Amino acid sequence: AADLAMYQAKQTGRSNYQFYTPELDRRIEQALSVEARLRDAIGSDGLELHYQPVIDLKNGKVVGAEALLRLTGAFLDMGPDRFIPIAESAGLIGRLGEWVAIQACQQHVQWLRQGMTMTIAINVSPLQFRQRSFIDRLSEIIADTGMDPRHLEIEVTESAIMENVEDAVRILTRLKALGVKVALDDFGTGYSSLSSLTSLPLDKLKVDQSFVRRIERDEASRTVTEAIIGLGRSLRLNVHGEGIESEDALLYLEEHGCNQAQGYWFSKPLRAAEFTRWYHEQWEKKTSTEGWERVRR
Ligand code: C2E
Ligand code: MG
Ligand code: MG
Ligand code: MG
Repeated sequence: AADLAMYQAKQTGRSNYQFYTPELDRRIEQALSVEARLRDAIGSDGLELHYQPVIDLKNGKVVGAEALLRLTGAFLDMGPDRFIPIAESAGLIGRLGEWVAIQACQQHVQWLRQGMTMTIAINVSPLQFRQRSFIDRLSEIIADTGMDPRHLEIEVTESAIMENVEDAVRILTRLKALGVKVALDDFGTGYSSLSSLTSLPLDKLKVDQSFVRRIERDEASRTVTEAIIGLGRSLRLNVHGEGIESEDALLYLEEHGCNQAQGYWFSKPLRAAEFTRWYHEQWEKKTSTEGWERVRR
């Protein structure tokens, strides 16, 4: 963590050398305290999963939930985009990732018992993805929790894959052998080799939200979004749009052949109990009225 902070401080400090020292101190201090806090959080109840609904664009039904990690208490306002890299450099990502997988599987089993049928997606960091123990631990967790692996989706980013495509194919093949689904997250922002994409055993492409959120305003974002949908469909992958914040974006994706969607327009990530409530309310709305048809028209 100190290394990371040092690196980040150098990046920001370079153009602003008179503030270099205090800025460096502040960042090291912050990274170290986050690291200590993460260590604590894993053993106590300092972690929480929130769940964001995933909607099927054919019929408006809730078909999934993405589990997103949150810190509770003192670091409440720090998002995973910031603390996951710290966890990686502190050697904590393995334990953090295990906690997430256990929690998500247990929640899924509980929801299934209540008649809520859907997939659950978890994010796996690039470092975690390449850890030797990753697949074995995941396999144990699936067995221990009684999770049906066909309902579990593993989200990996382009950078995790493209760093070493051969290794990635091996890891993904083992994952698929467990029976789980694999999604390529934040697609379009990294540097995917399109030819290697055809050799990867994937189930889904998630169109990065930076494009989706600019669909109404920006021609280039529409072009990229359509290209990704076309690519995904010709590879026979499920195409999933992230960051839907408006009805226009939703309609656009639906018209252009996107299969699934997720975003604030439907719901922000919710605590488990809130998700349960939301699921039932939506279910009633979408199935008992022509609400979804109205949205699509
Ligand atoms: P991600 O996997 O791409 O997750 C989507 C992020 O976009 C989430 O942010 C979600 O809250 C946010 N989001 C969803 N819909 C909208 C929208 O309509 N508008 C906007 N502005 N944002 C939206 P979050 O929860 O802060 O997570 C950020 C990233 O941190 C995730 O990106 C993922 O890469 C990583 N992450 C989250 N949880 C975990 C975890 O358990 N393990 C690992 N390794 N990484 C995680
Ligand atoms: Mg994700
Ligand atoms: Mg994403
Ligand atoms: Mg992301």
